[in-house]
Amino acid sequence: MTVDLSAHLDAVPGAVVDAIRGARRVLAVGHENPDADAIGASLAIKRIVERLGGAATPVCTDPVPPLYDFLPGIEHFRTDPEPDIDYDLLVVSDCGTLDRVGAVRDRHANLFARLPRVVIDHHASNEAIGPTDWIDPSAAATCEMVTLLAARLGVPLEADDGALAAALMSGIVMDTATFAHPNATPRTLLVSAALIEAGAPLSDISRRLYRTKPDAQLRLFGRVLDRLEHADDGRIIWSTLLESDLEATGTAAPHSEGIIDLLAQAERAEVAILFKEQDRSTRISVRTRPGGVDATALAGRFGGGGHARAAGATVELPASEARPAVLAEASRLVAKVVR
Ligand code: 5GP
Ligand code: MN
Repeated sequence: MTVDLSAHLDAVPGAVVDAIRGARRVLAVGHENPDADAIGASLAIKRIVERLGGAATPVCTDPVPPLYDFLPGIEHFRTDPEPDIDYDLLVVSDCGTLDRVGAVRDRHANLFARLPRVVIDHHASNEAIGPTDWIDPSAAATCEMVTLLAARLGVPLEADDGALAAALMSGIVMDTATFAHPNATPRTLLVSAALIEAGAPLSDISRRLYRTKPDAQLRLFGRVLDRLEHADDGRIIWSTLLESDLEATGTAAPHSEGIIDLLAQAERAEVAILFKEQDRSTRISVRTRPGGVDATALAGRFGGGGHARAAGATVELPASEARPAVLAEASRLVAKVVR
């Protein structure tokens, strides 16, 4: 291996290294409505722990969307911990708050409260301060951090015929939109170079995550894009995904992944918002232009969070009521942006 990560390994807290090294039966969880960063990090934790002689169960409260079927080992994901395993460590990846773990945490409240916990996350809004909580907002993806963790633990990145590297690369590709977002730093690219050298198929992963869709999903995108609206001279752009869109196109909620990033391409948009109807509540996805509105300021106002350029929240109101409230706040924030 020629790519040298050693200059960056001090970023990994010793307490996190010790906790992972000392664990034998790890419960590795990511956030609800999982994306490639949460999935890749949990899969990688499983492989790292196995390399160290232990065992781990990757868990996500929601079923993993079929989009991720290409990742080796994805079939190991469960929506609940194994009932017969006596876990000794919980590793929570890519969750800005513990709530993001979702309903599985309530279904197994005692287990989640009892287990010693490592938190690995890159959300600036994360307030976790425990001795084994590792929060690094300068990381483009949780998978960037887990790559450094693997290296620090002496686990070869080429482990499992490149499957470890592929899992980690997927999270980085997802969260940087294949190095297009401003969160991609020299360290992100160095870590990625190490992963490619270890066998991660970068181009294939990028195509799978960003440029491959079922026809039905493209039809869903068409309906939602056709409903695009704007305000404040185009500086706020939004659309709504109706539950009836899913029925009409034969798609499911995860197929909405990516629509917001198309909305955010609107030329003049400072803020792009996708409202997603779900029963009596509304999910919002927010994207903002660099140097302008902080997306976490808007999502945070409605109980959510995320990153400066990409954030989300669940608003406990039907879309018809959530929309005016969110748009009014967006308008207030956009008014402060001077270019
Ligand atoms: P997306 O719009 O792709 O669903 O989410 C964008 C980013 O916002 C995600 O990377 C995640 O970090 C964050 N995010 C989305 N939904 C929520 C939420 O309900 N609560 C919090 N705290 N963060 C969220
Ligand atoms: Mn992430």
